[in-house]
Amino acid sequence: MKVNEIMTALEAKHPGENEYLQAVREVLESIEEVYNQHPEFEKAKIVERIVEPDRIFTFRVTWVDRNGEVQTNLGYRVQYNAALGAYKGGLRFHKAVNVSMLKFLGFEQIFKNSLTMLPLGGGKGGSDFDPVGKTDEEIMRFCQAFMYELWRNIGPDQDSPAGDVGVGGREIGYLYGAYKKLAREHSTGALTGKSYGWGGSLIRPEATGFGAIYYVERMVKQTGDKMEGKRIALSGFGNVAWGAAIKATELGAKVVALSGPDGVCELPNGIDKEMIDYMLEMRASNRNKVQDMADKFPGKAVFTPGKKAWMVKCDIACPCAFQNELAEADAKELIANGVKYVAEVSNMGCQPAAIAAFQAAKIPFGPGKAVNAGGVATSGLEICQNAEHRNWTAEEVDKNLHTIMNNIYDMCVQYGKQADGTINYVKGANIAGFMRVANAMLAQGII
Ligand code: GLU
Repeated sequence: MKVNEIMTALEAKHPGENEYLQAVREVLESIEEVYNQHPEFEKAKIVERIVEPDRIFTFRVTWVDRNGEVQTNLGYRVQYNAALGAYKGGLRFHKAVNVSMLKFLGFEQIFKNSLTMLPLGGGKGGSDFDPVGKTDEEIMRFCQAFMYELWRNIGPDQDSPAGDVGVGGREIGYLYGAYKKLAREHSTGALTGKSYGWGGSLIRPEATGFGAIYYVERMVKQTGDKMEGKRIALSGFGNVAWGAAIKATELGAKVVALSGPDGVCELPNGIDKEMIDYMLEMRASNRNKVQDMADKFPGKAVFTPGKKAWMVKCDIACPCAFQNELAEADAKELIANGVKYVAEVSNMGCQPAAIAAFQAAKIPFGPGKAVNAGGVATSGLEICQNAEHRNWTAEEVDKNLHTIMNNIYDMCVQYGKQADGTINYVKGANIAGFMRVANAMLAQGII
């Protein structure tokens, strides 16, 4: 396999699909050396096959807004790769959603799901529906209209969507209600991220953030250091940042920043329980403004408009919002301010030049597909509970999640250890994730 040749062909075939091409290049560059030691992979054209989704559904979603006006959005489901199990991955509702974004997310999901060691294939979906400023009723009507199209193509043994940006517990509730009405089946595993009491798993809401901090804790310990007293900057204020804020605080670290599309809130004394709880209200309001935190807690949160979380001095930087949110200039600012560890919690949160800058400065960098795998892993545990028709305790779920994250971390070290003793977590995660899928594809023949 020659990465440049494959990328040139893909660029010609899928012009302008920049996020997708970026995600593919990162994985291929990481695995090139190992791949080329396996002529059987080359013979079965594993790479040529894995970069293309099994199928993509595109559909029109029409709904009526609060003024009685008819609105039309586009809906998608990318069923990427089922070598390891039924398709699994979230739904993203965001105005910028397009095929490129969902292909990048679906591609990442294949390897992330593989890292969990659970039987989960990779998929992703969503819509260009913009939840900002929408009423609860509008969100419900949109979710129902979205399900009119999608319900036939999902199910616990077929494809199981969950949340992502713009899709949380409320949306999953509406989506699941519509699914049940249309499918006339109580297949709880058809969607994950459900609320507790009707099929949801305890700890699923916290899981992405908790898992990320478990991974970060290992990165910190690897260097002989400890979490206590570390200043940690989080971007975003959604579900992922919320879980990370809870666990980081519990482990004695200090959350010094949260951010939103409107700017950054610096938290000079860290975050407290009341502020963490308020993050949930901020998300439910659909306002998408981090300034609300400063208005609610004057003095405890200091708002600067138009700035990112990366201007705040910190020891650990964790992008928790959106792809490519951390640019090279941000990386340089963080490095100049003494950042010691960087872990992507959002999918592909850092631009390639930013990752290169961290690696050149010898700052341990954890990639999203490993760091944020706790979310989908706990979705896998939700499916197990649904299949067993029982609920595990919070302790049981959390223990499983912690074990999975430790295992992912260990695999990243095993495959990412460099000659000089440092760990290239990007390489480790990509190789470990890829090998399991490639071997399964090989065993299952040319299909
Ligand atoms: N959207 C999340 C992710 O990026 C969760 C997916 C899931 O739980 O299926 O992994």
